[in-house]
Amino acid sequence: MTLSSNIHQLINEHMTQADDGSFVLAAPLLVQLRAACASTHGNHTGGGGQGVGLAINSAAIAIETRIQQDALAEHYEHAGNEYQGNLIDLLKTWSTLQGEWSTYLEAVTNEWITLIKETLEQRRPPWRPTLNCPACNGRFHGPEREPNLWLDYWDHNNEQMAHPSKWTAGCDGCGANWEGDELNWLRAATNTPNTPVAQVTQVS
Ligand SMILES: [Zn+2]
Repeated sequence: MTLSSNIHQLINEHMTQADDGSFVLAAPLLVQLRAACASTHGNHTGGGGQGVGLAINSAAIAIETRIQQDALAEHYEHAGNEYQGNLIDLLKTWSTLQGEWSTYLEAVTNEWITLIKETLEQRRPPWRPTLNCPACNGRFHGPEREPNLWLDYWDHNNEQMAHPSKWTAGCDGCGANWEGDELNWLRAATNTPNTPVAQVTQVS
């Protein structure tokens, strides 16, 4: 990758290789990062999962802030004055640089791209509702007293909530696993937090 191709990925729509080897058009990486900063994923699950969305947003915001600070600092080093424009315009001026600065900024932008991709590809963790497991009846396990149950409701390809028929859940206390219609009890329990799980297992 050259500096100009790095900048192209950051600020323009670009072709990228998908998991299956095909090439797809991707949004500019800085636009994808901004979307991750503004994401409300995980904040609308009816009482749980707030931490999931906040963790992803704060990681994205930290990287966006760092990139802006890095870019301004590098410009100051290179040009000897403070840059008075937006990040996109600054990066456009970099793509025509030659020589040592070009090589140096290529390494800087490589690092940004790695950070952005790691954040965007971070697998969203499951939600851990604190409910009793219907198999072993335990609620917590281990010395840290972590909740037994986990519920993975993400479509990891699209980073959206998956259709409930695709959800999977399990108990880290006894190792039980559930999927699809077997999860009716859990969906009912999480929609009616004041009702004991045993009383809603028949709800579909
Ligand atoms: Zn269990």
